[in-house]
Amino acid sequence: MYFKYYVTVLLMVIPEVIHSAYAWGFFAHESINHLAVYTLDPELFGFYKKHTEYIVRSSVNPDKRRYLVDSEGARHYIDVDQYEKELPLDTIRWGYDSLCNRFGIEHVQEHGIAPWNILWMQWRLTEAFRNRDVHSVLKLSAEIGHYISDLHVPLHTTSNYNGQKTGQEGIHALWESRLPELFFSNYWLFSGTAVYLPNIKNVVYDILEESHRLSQIVLWCDKQVRESIPSHKYYTIELRKGKSIKTYSLAYRKEYHRLLGEMVENRMRDSIHIVGSIWKTCWIDAGQPDMKVDVAFPEFDTIQITASDSLKVEQKSGRKAKSRIDAH
Ligand SMILES: [Zn+2]
Repeated sequence: MYFKYYVTVLLMVIPEVIHSAYAWGFFAHESINHLAVYTLDPELFGFYKKHTEYIVRSSVNPDKRRYLVDSEGARHYIDVDQYEKELPLDTIRWGYDSLCNRFGIEHVQEHGIAPWNILWMQWRLTEAFRNRDVHSVLKLSAEIGHYISDLHVPLHTTSNYNGQKTGQEGIHALWESRLPELFFSNYWLFSGTAVYLPNIKNVVYDILEESHRLSQIVLWCDKQVRESIPSHKYYTIELRKGKSIKTYSLAYRKEYHRLLGEMVENRMRDSIHIVGSIWKTCWIDAGQPDMKVDVAFPEFDTIQITASDSLKVEQKSGRKAKSRIDAH
């Protein structure tokens, strides 16, 4: 069954909450899922191409769901620094069950379950292919694309996810939303053909390890910008969706992007390739079922957010709503 939430978006009331809430930004998530379709071989390309609109539009549902389902948030991140003093990863590679035994399930849930959620979804997607359950294949494909993309975002792998521990608050949305919005048209995102991944678990842990390594650079580059630009030039006021919001100045964004080099572009391109490759791998593991099934176009899983839903979240879990959810 699909979740359906028939509610109204009231952007005028809480624009900043909605505005800053989405990892990679809606635009980036949609673009990654869209471009992943074009990595596929002909046997699978026809199926995904036919349903591109669904795959693209549903890519953002996991972020919308975070406002409504308490357990959803932990699927989008993991605080690697809670388990590892330094890289490479070792403790995290023990896996979810071992970490729960060692640290307790509450600790593990609180600090995020992003890698294991992808592995669980991979299993579900493979089963959906095996059953030729087109609706489930599409829904799980769209959503696993979201979670894989989130894992490529360095600040989804640290407890200092918004620079709040180092006086760099706001860096989360800057890296994953403001920069892609500004520079996307210059990115080269052709990622080649999707490949079969014989060991998805290792791939997932390797992505996580690289993201966490990059998180130090993400924070360091921001510090350099703060030292090179006078503080009164950090921010500007922009009009977004009819509201004035405070955001990083163009000079700040350009300098930060220059210092990061091709990091944002590379993480997007890698996301695209892995999303396509995981779709392909699940399909192959399911025995390469013929997906030329003639089904009606599925209804969109409409998850919308009301002002009252968001305010409810804020009131219910103050810290979470004001920090983690807003930051992502
Ligand atoms: Zn997310």
